[in-house]
Amino acid sequence: MHRFEPCLNFIGGRWCEPKTGQYGDNVNPANGEVLGVWARSGADDLDDAVRAAREAQAAWRLVPAPERAKVLRRVADLLRDRKDEIARTLTMEMGKVIEEARGEVQEAIDMADYMAGEGRRLFGQTTPSELPDKFAMSVRAPVGVVGIITPWNFPIAIASWKSLPAIVAGNAVVWKPAEETPLTARAFAEVYQEAGLPAGVLNVVFGDGPVVGEAMLSHPGIDVISFTGSTETGRHIASRAGANLKRVSLEMGGKNAITVLADADLDLAVDAIVWSAYGTSGQRCTAASRVIVEREVEEALLARLLPRVQALRVGDGLDPAVHVGPVIHEEALAKIDRYVRIGVDEGARLMTGGRRLTEGTLAQGYYYAPTVFAGVRPDMRIAQEEIFGPVLCVMAVDSFEEAIRVNNGVKYGLSASIFTRDVNRVFRAMRDLDTGIVYVNAGTTGAEIHLPFGGTKATGNGHRDSGQAALDVFTEWKTVYVDYSGRLQRAQIDNN
Ligand code: ADP
Repeated sequence: MHRFEPCLNFIGGRWCEPKTGQYGDNVNPANGEVLGVWARSGADDLDDAVRAAREAQAAWRLVPAPERAKVLRRVADLLRDRKDEIARTLTMEMGKVIEEARGEVQEAIDMADYMAGEGRRLFGQTTPSELPDKFAMSVRAPVGVVGIITPWNFPIAIASWKSLPAIVAGNAVVWKPAEETPLTARAFAEVYQEAGLPAGVLNVVFGDGPVVGEAMLSHPGIDVISFTGSTETGRHIASRAGANLKRVSLEMGGKNAITVLADADLDLAVDAIVWSAYGTSGQRCTAASRVIVEREVEEALLARLLPRVQALRVGDGLDPAVHVGPVIHEEALAKIDRYVRIGVDEGARLMTGGRRLTEGTLAQGYYYAPTVFAGVRPDMRIAQEEIFGPVLCVMAVDSFEEAIRVNNGVKYGLSASIFTRDVNRVFRAMRDLDTGIVYVNAGTTGAEIHLPFGGTKATGNGHRDSGQAALDVFTEWKTVYVDYSGRLQRAQIDNN
C-alpha cells in the first residue's frame, strides 16, 4: 500500500486511468519511500485531453473575462486553505525544505490573486484612425489551446505562472507536469476543479517527457507551448514545435553570479549567498552558483562564508530545523559529484563539502554536502556549466569592469546580483549585466510574481513568464478597424 492514491489524468473534468495501463513510481528523495504512482500516459491520452480542451475553449473564450477571473479568485482562496497540506506534499516528493515549500505555494496564491485582477484589465489599445469616421483598436484574443510542460523544482509555482494567465485570457490548457512531482500537480488540478473551472479548460496528462511532452510538440490541436526546464530539452522543443509553427515560450538554465565589490556590506552579502546558493539545494534556475569577488575582500568574504556553509543542517525537508534538503534523485547526485571531481581536476580549491552525505538515515536519501570551491577561473567547466546542486564557485577579480565581464561570460543570462554601496556602479551594473533579472544588494533569487521573469541568451527565447509580460505568450493581438463613414475609404491613398 502506498501513502497516496494513484495520480490519474484529469481530462474533460474527469479523473481517468491512462489508456496504456502503465504507471510510474513517485519517490521521496529524502528517504527513498515510494509515495505512490502516476499515470504513465501515451499519445492517445494526450489526444483525449486536447479534444476536451478544444471543446471547452470554444465556450470558455466567450465567458466574460471578469467572470473567468472569479474562478481564479476561488483558486487563490482554496490554495490558501490547503497551503500547509500542499506544501508538505511538495516537500515529500521533491525535497525542498518546508518553509520554502510554503513560500512556493504562496507564490501560486499571489499569482492567482494577480491574474484574477487581469479579468478586469486585459487592456488593449485604441488610437485615432488616419481617416475620418473610422475607429481603430487592438484587443487581446486567446490563442486557443496552450500546452504547458513544467519541471519538478517548482512544481506549483511554475505551473501557476503559466496556467493562470492562460486561463484568464480565455485559453484552455493541457498540462504535462514533471514525472517527479505528480502529487503537487494533482492537488493544483483538484483546486481548479473545486473552484468551478468548467470541465476541459484545464487538463492534466501525466507521463514521460519523451512520450507525452514530445507528442505535444507536433499535436495539431495545441497552439502554444510554454516550457520550463533544461536548455537541452528546451532547444529540442523549440526546433520541433517551431517546425510546426507553434509559438514557443522557453525558460531554461542559469549560471547566476553574485558580485561582491570591495565596498560591500560583507555580512549582508554572505546572508544572500547562503540563501541563493543552497536554498532548494541549489536546484533553482536562479540559484547562485558563482560568486565574483574583488580580490581585496576575497579572504574576508571566505572567512565569513565557510563557517556559515559548514553550519547548514542537511536532512529531510519536513524537519523544520533542516536548512538544506536532498537533491531530486540519484542521477542528480551523480551529476553533482561528477562536476565536483571535474572542479578538483581543473585545479579549483575545494574549501568545504564535495561529497555525498550518507551518515545514519541520510544514506536512504539523495544528499550532497553544501560545497564551496575557491580559486576558480572563469573558463573552468564548473564556472561555465549548470550543475544544479549545492555547489558554489568563488572567483576573484581585480576591478568592477572585470566583474561585469566575468558575470556576462557564460552562455546563460537569467539572474545576476551585485553588492556595493556605490550608486554609480549600481547604475552601470543595471545597464551592463546582460541578464533578464538584476538584483542590487540582494541575492539572485526572490522574483515577485507581478514582474516579468526570464532570461537572455541560452536561458530563454525572448518571452517572459509572470507579470503583464506573460499575457503576451497567451494572447494574440487582434487589430480591428470600424469604418462608419458609409463609403470606401482607402488608407494611405485617399488621405494623401
Ligand atoms: P529536468 O532536468 O528538470 O528534468 P527537463 O528539461 O528534462 O529537465 O524536464 C522538464 C520538463 O520537460 C519535464 O516535464 C519533462 O518531462 C519534459 N520533457 C523532457 N523531455 C521532453 C521532450 N522531448 N519533449 C517535451 N517535453 C519533454
